[in-house]
Amino acid sequence: MSNILVAEDEPRISHFVERGLRSAGYACTVTPDGAEALVDAQSGAFDLVLLDVGLPSLDGFEVLRRLRATHPSIPVIMLTARNSVEDTVLGLDSGASDYLAKPFKFDELLARIRLRLRDREQTASGTLAHGQLSLDSRTRRAQVAGVEVDLSTREFALAEEFFKNPEQVLSREQLLSRVWGYDFDPGSNVLDVYIRYLRNKLGNEAIETVRGMGYRLR
Ligand code: CA
Repeated sequence: MSNILVAEDEPRISHFVERGLRSAGYACTVTPDGAEALVDAQSGAFDLVLLDVGLPSLDGFEVLRRLRATHPSIPVIMLTARNSVEDTVLGLDSGASDYLAKPFKFDELLARIRLRLRDREQTASGTLAHGQLSLDSRTRRAQVAGVEVDLSTREFALAEEFFKNPEQVLSREQLLSRVWGYDFDPGSNVLDVYIRYLRNKLGNEAIETVRGMGYRLR
């Protein structure tokens, strides 16, 4: 069970978040104080931190700055009091993984939390998985239903784009610019060739052509 630290000094909000997180199956601890939040976040007991900007004793930016010095990779979602561009920029510059402006919908918070926890698991294991397929960025190999498949560097880079954006349609331009860089010739058929290579290795149905739009991993 993932354990979430909620650093928030407004009881109305922290109760609402705590109740929602518990019913979504997370363990959670609330602290209303910045300095306390920093100690808790550094304890290693938490998988993710929800961090309000306006906190007593240390504000959220200062908590984040100190936390990042010792724990560079723990996911931190900042809760900004207003939809302030300065707060957002400052938060992301200080190393926030994401931010959410108050008032927010609980479903949106939950979606962000899931995403950040998933990123963290994938970074920790180095593996991107989708259905029967997985991709290991350390060995740079794919597995299809448990069977290892070797990919060339370019095939791997293309596969990685699909695995990072599963079920999303990626346009030819997106794929060409991300995998081949900005130096590609838009008229070339290099992408079609590599999509065919990947289908041969990962299975014909793995990558779907969405007519007029691009390709999608399914
Ligand atoms: Ca506050």
